[in-house]
Amino acid sequence: MGYRALTPAYGLLPPKVKVAPKVADPFYLSAEWRRLVARLKRERGAACERCGSGHRLIGDHVVERRDGGAELDPANVELLCQACHNAKTAKARAARAGRGG
Ligand SMILES: [Zn+2]
Repeated sequence: MGYRALTPAYGLLPPKVKVAPKVADPFYLSAEWRRLVARLKRERGAACERCGSGHRLIGDHVVERRDGGAELDPANVELLCQACHNAKTAKARAARAGRGG
């Protein structure tokens, strides 16, 4: 066995390597998640479930994954606009800080 099996013959890197934001969770980049969010937008209408805005909708877990929420269960996913998502995140962060992490 003379050849080096672990050395790739040619690079497989994507043409552009982007630096991911430090908060990025690979889960939210997965095809399954994107597909689910796209589906929910079609089924529920592309509008924020809190304020009705259609601006920059994001799929958000009602019960967060870190708290044991189901990742790909539509019942645990809410469509939120950027503003509502930010508000929710800030609130959750404050609550978390309040109980010491
Ligand atoms: Zn909203």
